[in-house]
Amino acid sequence: MKLPQPSQKHSSTLGYIILFAFIATLIYIFINPNPQAPEKVSLDSFIGDINSGIVEEIRVEDNRIYYIATGGAEFYTVKEPSETLTELMAEIPAEKTESIKVEIVDTTGNNFWMEILVSIIPFILIVGFLMFMMRQAASANNQAMSFGKSQARISDPEKKKKTTFKDVAGAKEAKEELIEIVDFLKNPSKYTQMGAKIPRGVILVGAPGTGKTLLARAVAGEAGVPFFNISGSEFVEMFVGVGASRVRDLFKKAKRNAPCIIFIDEIDAVGRHRGAGMGGGHDEREQTLNQILTEMDGFEQDTNIIVMAATNRPDVLDPALLRPGRFDRRVVIDIPDIEDREAILKIHTAKKPLAQDIDLNKISRQTPGFSGADLENLANEAAILAAKNNQKEITQPDLETSIEKVLMGPERKSRVLNKKEKEMIAYHETGHAIVGHMLPECDPVHKISIISRGMALGVTWFMPEEDKHLYSKTKFEHELASLLGGYATEKMVFGEVSTGPSNDLERATKMARKMVTKYGMSDMGPVIFGEGNEEIFLGKDFGHVRNYSEEIASKIDQAVEQIVGRALDKAAEIVKKYRKEMDRIVKELLQKETLTREEFIELLEGKKTKTKSSN
Ligand code: ADP
Ligand code: MG
Ligand code: ZN
Repeated sequence: MKLPQPSQKHSSTLGYIILFAFIATLIYIFINPNPQAPEKVSLDSFIGDINSGIVEEIRVEDNRIYYIATGGAEFYTVKEPSETLTELMAEIPAEKTESIKVEIVDTTGNNFWMEILVSIIPFILIVGFLMFMMRQAASANNQAMSFGKSQARISDPEKKKKTTFKDVAGAKEAKEELIEIVDFLKNPSKYTQMGAKIPRGVILVGAPGTGKTLLARAVAGEAGVPFFNISGSEFVEMFVGVGASRVRDLFKKAKRNAPCIIFIDEIDAVGRHRGAGMGGGHDEREQTLNQILTEMDGFEQDTNIIVMAATNRPDVLDPALLRPGRFDRRVVIDIPDIEDREAILKIHTAKKPLAQDIDLNKISRQTPGFSGADLENLANEAAILAAKNNQKEITQPDLETSIEKVLMGPERKSRVLNKKEKEMIAYHETGHAIVGHMLPECDPVHKISIISRGMALGVTWFMPEEDKHLYSKTKFEHELASLLGGYATEKMVFGEVSTGPSNDLERATKMARKMVTKYGMSDMGPVIFGEGNEEIFLGKDFGHVRNYSEEIASKIDQAVEQIVGRALDKAAEIVKKYRKEMDRIVKELLQKETLTREEFIELLEGKKTKTKSSN
């Protein structure tokens, strides 16, 4: 299995090697012509040495006079070109020079080679440099030429560490569906003999981090077939037509390697890219999409290629993608439930040293709504924490602290708040907690904290007892009241509100609006107003489709106002009733900064807390 590899890496390395060799040679020649160079002396001391009779041998090379003194030490001196050795020694008495061996070396031959070399080096350098440049240009050219090639990464089925279904915890239904796909890939004849059509497209749908990519890999690993992995966003380029050409190339490669899996991750990048972006995103998206559809339609009956795709936004996908014969198999991957969470935690703590008394079940109970990726992150944070404290193993508190960190960002103890601010935050959070605690449909209070975390100055943490799938109108109303508990408290205690509850108000308003327009939970009746207004994506349904009149719009606003108003009244009533308890809780909270559920309830009910601190 080979994919064409761009060669620019090699050519540039070669260029650097050539350049380096040249420079090294030059440095060698100019700096170090003779490793055991004799010591240089002045002309006078040379003459002096002859006079004192210690010179034994003289060798003349060009303008240099090398000589060996008694004892073998070598020296050299430089004379003027016009002077000869004889002239120099003319002044010296003949008996001093008689015994010296004199050798005149003819250096013209040496010089000849030296001169050739000197004249050739610049030439070689220029040629080398040109070659280097040409290679660079060629590789850049190559890059431009391969622009339309797909950049799919292929994973080799023979690779040792392949992903299998064992690496995916939970997701039982999804796995069952996908086992079928694995079987199609392994024994296609079993199905074709029955006259069954092998499915072409499978789309994995699920929230981010639920393991879609992981499952697709596991399918390839189980089936032992090549796996072409490309992300939808890689089709979307500045230039129109590149995406389509990449699709063509990808399918061509896949056909050569059949049976295999093509996996298009985040397919909504092509599916929903509408009218937005640079260079005509609209045409580009359509062309790419059309090409994918054409390629899938063009499969021969026995083409053993399965196209898998993943998305967390199935609602924005082009319906043409989902019709029979294309991505007609839809595998939904849910956010893991309590059992799955435990299993996922087990997988991700398997290779970490855990303390004996670790209770993963307890952790999974505390992490409703966590995706597989969140849980992986949680396990990792716990390991980091344990390492930071120089522990030998990960303990239960490490895991519990990490839940909060993953959920709400790291604590920011350095954020300095003054006394008044702290008091305000304490009252605000206690307001949330008391209202939430008094209303039966709210989740139980788990913790109250006035330690800054991420963006939040304080946190009241409610923990559902079990995973919830349905919300009643009463539940919404109670949650709204609890959300507004902070606002109501600030107003009651300080007579005015701070910027603190602004996020609460935003969430409350959104929740109330949804109750009216989406769930039919107001006097406006069971009608849904507006479409696809949940999230606004670049260019898609910008400002959402409004399929109602101005009159209805103002009625909706009124209904929202009413719902929020009622919730606020309820919250205000509760915080007023429990003002005395509230003061008690706030006092303790200011001291400890964090209150657990037990501490909160004991304070609320007026009993002494066991862990009461020194005041
Ligand atoms: P998605 O593609 O759905 O956004 P990924 O497949 O990239 O999510 O999952 C991210 C990571 O989360 C995976 O690499 C894996 O470690 C972890 N993960 C998610 N779901 C599971 C699961 N069911 N079992 C084990 N690990 C999981
Ligand atoms: Mg993914
Ligand atoms: Zn708040």
